[in-house]
Amino acid sequence: TKRIKVIGGGLAGPEAALQAARYGCEVDLYEMRPTRSTEAHQTSDFAELVCSNSLKSESENTAPWLLKQEMRRAGSILLAEADASAVPAGHALAVDRIEFSRRVAERIAAEPRITVHREEVTHIDENDPNTITILASGPLTSSALAAELQRLTGSDYLAFYDSISPIVDAGTINMDRVYFAARWDKGTADYINCPFTKEEYDVFLDALTTAEAVEAKPWEQIPEAAFETRHLDRSETGAPGLDSETWVSSESKGSQPTPEKLQYFEGCLPIEETARRGRDTLRFGPMKPAGLTNPKTGRWPYAVVQLRQENLRADSYNLVGFQNHLKFGEQNRVLKLIPGLENATFLRYGQIHRNTYINAPTLLTETLQLKAHPSIMIAGQLSGVEGYTESIASGMLAGRYAAALAHGKTPTPAPRASANGSLTHYITHAEGKKFQPANITFDLLVPLEEELRKKVRDKKERHKIQCGRALEAWNEWLAKPHLHSAC
Ligand code: FAD
Repeated sequence: TKRIKVIGGGLAGPEAALQAARYGCEVDLYEMRPTRSTEAHQTSDFAELVCSNSLKSESENTAPWLLKQEMRRAGSILLAEADASAVPAGHALAVDRIEFSRRVAERIAAEPRITVHREEVTHIDENDPNTITILASGPLTSSALAAELQRLTGSDYLAFYDSISPIVDAGTINMDRVYFAARWDKGTADYINCPFTKEEYDVFLDALTTAEAVEAKPWEQIPEAAFETRHLDRSETGAPGLDSETWVSSESKGSQPTPEKLQYFEGCLPIEETARRGRDTLRFGPMKPAGLTNPKTGRWPYAVVQLRQENLRADSYNLVGFQNHLKFGEQNRVLKLIPGLENATFLRYGQIHRNTYINAPTLLTETLQLKAHPSIMIAGQLSGVEGYTESIASGMLAGRYAAALAHGKTPTPAPRASANGSLTHYITHAEGKKFQPANITFDLLVPLEEELRKKVRDKKERHKIQCGRALEAWNEWLAKPHLHSAC
């Protein structure tokens, strides 16, 4: 049996280590804190929650609930400890973070198969025939390890920060005000165009340039290394990131920063920054109307916002080029000034923040192994999932897969129909060039058949059906003998 080396004592790492140990493997767990810390961690504890203490909704038939239900059924150890450290938080699972970390540490200490090493890992031996490595060093992976990862994956496939455009629920777009068109009629008319008059543009621009921004945190300063590396530019794509419940919103209270406090790549400039460069800059940039004839007027509008359907995300469109650094409440107010979006529901707001992650669609297999180096696995935020719970979930899968591999078995990936499988499916099948991390939402799950969608008008009912199907597929997968034969 091979040994398992887990790098990172945050959320994914301890879960992976405990799972692999549970399935009979000897595990070395490496954590660099306290010798070296990150910009966000404040303790040397395992499973430190760096910001909010919420593991999101527990409301039945929501996507975060589904993910957690699956994890409970699979025996996620960190989630069990989160449940045991829960504090009252309405319909969410929030935890006492100190108690949570203490319990996780206790579980690790009580596991004789895990050896803890408090040191920074700077080298990975991809040719070591006796070791499976799970890299779970998180969004703030130390720079030496990031460089090592670049060596293993190629420098084009590691991103250092996120630049995310907002996503809107397709069902809430006012289709009477917008139109489908391809620029210069080239290709299929996949884009929804939101046309502005001059007056509407002026009102929008004023609101955009005066809206309140999220305060810059030290970890949002772009590291020097990022300038030397081609990052995966999300600037013109928009796509998954965090939803309104997550950390940027909880971070967003405080004084309004001057825009100069943030450092941006030119290609990933937040839309409000571009707007400040001149009243027409957006009209000649991301809001360019040229070639987009409005069938209702037979002319180009004064300016346009383009919405693009997201690959692998049914029922949602992203606002092309609208990555921004505004507070979520402000985004909700300002973006509703876009013609056609006056009553829109935003599934995700724009963001820009420090985040190290690999280009999973290019690099990763469905069992979280690097295609080029199958003995190296990636888990947690570094793999392109986003959020505490998602990171634990991915650690849980990685630990199980690693155990199977260590015992000479071939792991079977989590089923596509499940929430866990959908997350993995997303990170491994999204369009590589436009890849952005994701947290779990319904639009990552398998959509219902067209006929059923038409029949079941109520969205909540549809979600209930999707959850039922997911749990059924998950149970079947869990019942498969090969997963357990690793013990
Ligand atoms: P981490 O929990 O960061 O764990 C990685 C561990 O690896 C760290 O302990 C680190 O010290 C260690 N490490 C790094 N490099 C090395 C090395 N070379 N050798 C050894 N050890 C190393 N998500 C939410 O759902 N809610 C939030 O409120 C939230 N807030 C966030 C705030 C910030 C500032 C950031 C950066 C992210 C936040 N996230 C949040 C996103 C994400 O859920 C967390 O980052 C989560 O902790 C990711 O889990 P992980 O296990 O992948 O990484």
